[in-house]
This record gives sequence, structure tokens and C-alpha cells, in this order.
Amino acid sequence: MNTSVTIDPALKPEGYEGQGFFATRLENLVGMARKNSLWPLPFATSCCGIEFMATMGSNYDLARFGMERLSFSPRQADLLIVAGTVAKKLGPVLRQVYEQMAEPRWVIAMGACASSGGVFDTYSVLQGIDKIIPVDVYIPGCPPRPEQLIEGIIKIQELVQTEGIDRRSTPAYQEKIAKYNLQ
Ligand code: SF4
Repeated sequence: MNTSVTIDPALKPEGYEGQGFFATRLENLVGMARKNSLWPLPFATSCCGIEFMATMGSNYDLARFGMERLSFSPRQADLLIVAGTVAKKLGPVLRQVYEQMAEPRWVIAMGACASSGGVFDTYSVLQGIDKIIPVDVYIPGCPPRPEQLIEGIIKIQELVQTEGIDRRSTPAYQEKIAKYNLQ
């Protein structure tokens, strides 16, 4: 019986390898480590939050992506998932949560409400969280299914893997942050 096992090195970054060695760029390694150890902070205000809970449950099991550790403290989180309707009164709270997160940080707007206000085209509802904080990935739907949230998280992971360790100092990022009057 052949007992040898071939492991598919799906996670391995680009690099050079030979017998007994593998060399790659530091940036690739850091990207790989960050990508597979994101700590999400769920900012769940209404029904989309229930879909987020389902995504954490055993059927969908977000822990497969290195995300079994949710953070309810912004200082120990790097992925903000805004799930639900955000009233204008809540806007400053959301912004403060974002500001308390350390760099590097990423944001998902989950569902129609977080992305654009959804069906609540009213004076009291924020018409998209990107009015007050920058968003990296938008997930459509009312509510989005857990599969859609997972797709959004995979998109974030692709971004995290490829964007480089000096993201904060790039002119594009500085410009983006300045637009929101953030530091
Ligand atoms: S997008 Fe739909 S499901 Fe999600 S919070 Fe808004 S109304 Fe609820």
C-alpha cells in the first residue's frame, strides 16, 4: 500500500525552492500570515447580523478561514464587518470603532443596508457606511446568505495577501484616508 501523502501547497506564496529550502519575499510571507489570521469585529445592528451568526455556526464554520476568534474590542480586531441598518445617530459610534482599530484594518459592508441604506431611504438612516468610513468589500443582498459573506471574506483575503506591508504609507491609501478626514 502506498502511504505517501502529497500535500497541495495551495497556501505557499511565490518563491524559489530546491531540495531542503524555500525562499520568498518577506511581503509574501506577511501577507500569507495576515490573510489566514484575520480577527473580525462584527458590528451587527439588525437582521444581517443573524446571517453573520449562521456563518459562524458549524454548517459554514468560519473558523476554516482562521476566524474562530471574533473580537468585540476594536483594538484587537483587523476586519470590521458591518452587518445591518446603521441609523445616522449610530454613525459616530461606528466611526469611533473604526478609528480605534489599529492598522492594517479592512472593512466589509454586509448587505444592502450597510452598503447603501437598503430599503430604508429615510431621513434617519445612513445611506451606506462609506459616507463615514472607507469600505473594502461590499456584499449585496437583503440579507446576503452565508455563502455570500464567505465570498466577501475571500475577496478581503485576496486583498490582504496582495496589498503589501506598507499599505498605510502608499499615496493611494493616504488619499483614501484623507478623504474621510481620518488619520
Ligand atoms: S440588508 Fe435586509 S436583511 Fe440586512 S439589515 Fe438590511 S433589511 Fe435586514
